[in-house]
Amino acid sequence: MGIDDELYQETILEHYKSKKRRHAIANADMQREGMNPLCGDDITLFVKMNDGVIEDASFEGTGCSICIASADMLCASVIGKTLAQASAIIASFKGMLLRDQSPDFPDDLSDLEAMKGVKKFPVRIKCALLSWNTLEHMIETKEKA
Ligand code: ZN
Repeated sequence: MGIDDELYQETILEHYKSKKRRHAIANADMQREGMNPLCGDDITLFVKMNDGVIEDASFEGTGCSICIASADMLCASVIGKTLAQASAIIASFKGMLLRDQSPDFPDDLSDLEAMKGVKKFPVRIKCALLSWNTLEHMIETKEKA
């Protein structure tokens, strides 16, 4: 079985093809660029807050299919969540890919488990985590401010 069969599952492809969250947010409250030189992934993440809740999240840039699909999944997952809830989702996602933890995602986020297969290809884990690390950093920086 080729690497593509393992990696490019239907869910991942759907997120990769989706254009819904691939745009800048002009009046974003948080914005941060993330780069993965190993692969050439380079994305900028945008977050718009409203009353303590992430009202909108999107990204733009270029990257491999895993990076783009994962960024789309991230944005879809955190919209409607508080920063604390977003941090918990990030921790769970990173635990799944980095520490072999079985993820404990809410039902509406079960899509995220589709990324589990990436674990078998260590070089692609950085691609999958780029947007997640970028948001994590964004939240940490904001909380310090
Ligand atoms: Zn990549």
